[in-house]
Amino acid sequence: MSHKPANNIQDLQYFGEFGGVNPSISDSATYTFLHAKTMLDTFEGHAEGCYLYSRHTSPSNLYLSEALAAMEFTETANVAASGMGAITSVFMQVCGAGDHIVSSRTIYGGSYAFLKNFAPKFNISTSFVDITSLEAVENAITSETKMIYCEAISNPLLEIANIAELSKIAKKHNVLLVVDNTFSPLIISPQKLGADVTIHSLTKFINGTNDTVGGVVCASQEFIDSLRNVNDGAAMLLGPVMDSFRAASILKNLRTLHIRMKKHSENALFLAENFEADGLKIVYPGLKSHPGNELFKTMYNKEYGFGGILTLDVGNLDKANELMELMQHENLGYLAVSLGFYKTLFSAPGTSTSSEIPEDEQLKMGLSDGIIRFSIGLDNDIERTYRAMRMCMKKVGVL
Ligand SMILES: *Cc1c(COP(=O)(O)O)cnc(C)c1O
Repeated sequence: MSHKPANNIQDLQYFGEFGGVNPSISDSATYTFLHAKTMLDTFEGHAEGCYLYSRHTSPSNLYLSEALAAMEFTETANVAASGMGAITSVFMQVCGAGDHIVSSRTIYGGSYAFLKNFAPKFNISTSFVDITSLEAVENAITSETKMIYCEAISNPLLEIANIAELSKIAKKHNVLLVVDNTFSPLIISPQKLGADVTIHSLTKFINGTNDTVGGVVCASQEFIDSLRNVNDGAAMLLGPVMDSFRAASILKNLRTLHIRMKKHSENALFLAENFEADGLKIVYPGLKSHPGNELFKTMYNKEYGFGGILTLDVGNLDKANELMELMQHENLGYLAVSLGFYKTLFSAPGTSTSSEIPEDEQLKMGLSDGIIRFSIGLDNDIERTYRAMRMCMKKVGVL
């Protein structure tokens, strides 16, 4: 295995069933066995190369899983029907009644809602902490804690988690470090920095075409086997399974991820630097003004830059809405949630993707309602985009 994530994806060689350079799509829910004994072995998880039933696993899903494991330097991986399908399976696998999670307070709204509102039904409790304070993280750990949970670059505030130091704390207290790396595929390799489990929503940069949702858990063989266990595996029993056709299409898109990530980052850095110089309130990990900028540089795979997401604070929601509507009208992108698309997407997180977080808590974590989150697209002429965005900002009076 190369120590560079994109090489690992590039180096995978496929000889399809009929010699195809793309593996054939497995269009079966169930699989035959020539010998009854092999079926039993497959049930128990030790029949190499045999398939049982597509909720367990399928050839197409395994192809995609192995490519994502190669990217994340983990032994193996398991794809899921959505990012939330991957995330919630991990929570439910690791934690039982009475257990406790220490989570970053700035996480994806769905993950936050699950931990805050749903997990308590199973008597699983969560302490939400400022993940940039290692002291706060360690102080929150109790004898019941099973997991530290965070996002490498947090949504939507773009705080940077110090994965290496969090991993030391996790090891010291014998808990798992689980990192959602959705904002930074190829850019950050959490497993290399000491994370135990790396999760992605494939819906975003990895698939990159906004035609499907998808998710993945990348981890050790032992952990993935436990997730898929027919008797007590969360992925197997909750059933958030990806369809084979989707797995095949996401695999094809994965092959150009390295080119896309470089362009997203290059464009985002250009806009962030110029808008900051114009006097706007920009948050972007690639700016010296970002409190996590130095830390980021100790963690990243430099050639992929600082990622495609930046935020702009225009002061209040009305201005944010006015600006977003105008930018969409001027064809600079779409007023839409999600990220990683070829066109720029923008939304106001306070009223959309983070609306699950109560208003007073949003304020506490610094999430003002004038914040616009941008997922910067693959624009070939970013200077043209900059000039046009600047015009919009002048028109609505933010500049
Ligand atoms: C979108 C997203 C998720 C959820 O993924 P889905 O594919 O929508 O289920 C989780 N974490 C982060 C950081 C996300 O951006």
